Amino acid sequence: MNALNQKLQIIFPNSIAVTIKREDLLHPVVSGNKFRKLKYNLLQAKAENKKTLLTFGGAFSNHIAAVAFAAQEQGLQSIGIIRGDELRDKIDSNPTLQFAQECGMQFEFISREEYRLKSESSFLDELKQQFGDFYLVPEGGTNALAIEGCQEILTDEDSAFDYICCAVGTGGTISGIINSALPHQKVLGFPALKGDFLQDEIRIFVQNQNWELLTDYHFGGYGKVNEDLIYFINQFYIENQIPLDPVYTGKMVFGVMDLIQKNYFPAHSNILLIHTGGLQGIFGMNERLKNKQLPTINIDV
Ligand SMILES: *Cc1c(COP(=O)(O)O)cnc(C)c1O
Repeated sequence: MNALNQKLQIIFPNSIAVTIKREDLLHPVVSGNKFRKLKYNLLQAKAENKKTLLTFGGAFSNHIAAVAFAAQEQGLQSIGIIRGDELRDKIDSNPTLQFAQECGMQFEFISREEYRLKSESSFLDELKQQFGDFYLVPEGGTNALAIEGCQEILTDEDSAFDYICCAVGTGGTISGIINSALPHQKVLGFPALKGDFLQDEIRIFVQNQNWELLTDYHFGGYGKVNEDLIYFINQFYIENQIPLDPVYTGKMVFGVMDLIQKNYFPAHSNILLIHTGGLQGIFGMNERLKNKQLPTINIDV
């Protein structure tokens, strides 16, 4: 048995079995898929003799936290281009940015309008003028090297699973999983955001057809939650001692449990859930929930 795989002790209907791959345990900070996505990019940055990583992200981004930490660990500088001018004075009340800053990340806060230019070469040239030479890691960390890293999530020991389920943001992680899944396996993606563009993004990176996106579990969009989701995450933790994050893995696992209830899966299905990590996002989410006087996530991570 793969050391990261943990079978849920819950009794499911129709002899369905569910196992969760604890990629959240890969690394205390750069957990899960962000660790996988950075692996070959860090090697490439070193090979190109780069001294600085530059990347993009929002206020509570797991990716920003991961890049800041990985850069520090590798003795590289890091620059985070952060979406939202207004965050400049709010670093102290934002656990993600505070963490990244403690890792030595230098921030540049830009407006949402400017942020939309992030892939344009003229904008990147301006950044080179401002910061000097850097290794560019795209927003969310998805590029060909990231997908190579995510192809290492599934191993030979996972061949007995019929379904492999994972949360989807930019589509990089699921692309790696699709590329390494076996022909008898079906990969189910649960987008954490609204938007029809993901199908096309994923098709850029994969050839296999054995995958599908289930788009009903975004809870209103990226970073949006409701009380049902918070309740589910807390209850899942009590029952299984497995922490889920509110932005990605909580929504995916909620979706899978709902589909099991609705008899989506045939009897005797052997399902693997990929826990992609992201637990640092709980702190920021709890701040927001407290401000709105909503129930918070009761998980010590
Ligand atoms: C970023 C992230 C994802 C989404 O990964 P993509 O490769 O962008 O689709 C899923 N889960 C967690 C915990 C993440 O941080």
